[in-house]
Amino acid sequence: MIGQGTWNMERDGRAEAVRAIRAGLDAGMTLVDTAEMYGAGAVEEIVGEAITGRRDEVFLVTKVLPENASRRGAVTACEESLRRLRTDQIDLYLLHWPSAHPLDDTIIAFEELKQRGLIRWWGLSNFDAEALDRARALAGPRGIAADQVLYHPQQRAIEHEVLPWCDRHEVALMAYSPFGSGDFPLPGSRGGKVLAAIAKTHGKTVHQIALAFLIRKPIVFAIPKAATVAHVAENAAAAEIVLTVVEIKRLEAAFPLGHPPPVLPTL
Ligand code: NAP
Repeated sequence: MIGQGTWNMERDGRAEAVRAIRAGLDAGMTLVDTAEMYGAGAVEEIVGEAITGRRDEVFLVTKVLPENASRRGAVTACEESLRRLRTDQIDLYLLHWPSAHPLDDTIIAFEELKQRGLIRWWGLSNFDAEALDRARALAGPRGIAADQVLYHPQQRAIEHEVLPWCDRHEVALMAYSPFGSGDFPLPGSRGGKVLAAIAKTHGKTVHQIALAFLIRKPIVFAIPKAATVAHVAENAAAAEIVLTVVEIKRLEAAFPLGHPPPVLPTL
């Protein structure tokens, strides 16, 4: 339920990033999420180095940029990602966000990639429930494997429609930026205090409690990014935490859901 994000890892120093991803694999965080966009291909190369010799342990996720998601463009982009990732197969290939190219062209390309064995499954990212309905109408009931969306304690918008949609249609929900991309609840804030109190009870950190909160529903996977080995170990260990119903209710109250936003948030 907890994997490894890699956005901006090209800024962390190659050796450190490779070490962190490998430490994550050692600790059982075998889902690795990347994208052709990250570092303009540089992060896929880092991931390729990190998983060399360990490909069988990894559930590898990467994403095609919307501007490349045409019938032919998606196929070419996938082949280039495979080269940078030093592998012959991607486990899950996502459309990074809705594209100006017709979605049926993207889906035809994804299905071709699947038939050729270059990807095992495909999915979407930053799709709201309406867009998911349209995609499902084109792809059929077994087409979409996952939707990757913004989800952290302070941003629970997907709980209104996207999460129930994914639950209903047995589509995995991947929670990106689970720590708010660095904008984590401040220690003195209402939410920060509740996280700290629950963390103390469990002998865990506030970040671990945040992850446990996000993955409380079985269809949710979280993909924290960590280039620090200590952070990696901490994130992996969060998978063992079982929050009580009362703790979940306290967290839900401390991080209010709010009204459904007009547009699905991405930041
Ligand atoms: P994030 O995971 O919310 O936060 C990353 C930050 O948290 C880093 O500064 C990291 O530090 C720190 N951190 C990690 N573990 C920690 C811990 N246990 N304790 C304290 N700090 C910790 O940010 P994100 O990169 O935005 O999101 C995660 C992943 O989601 C991305 O890397 C990417 O794979 C994916 N994503 C997808 C989309 C999309 O549109 N589909 C958009 C955004 C992100 P260190 O690195 O120094 O360890």
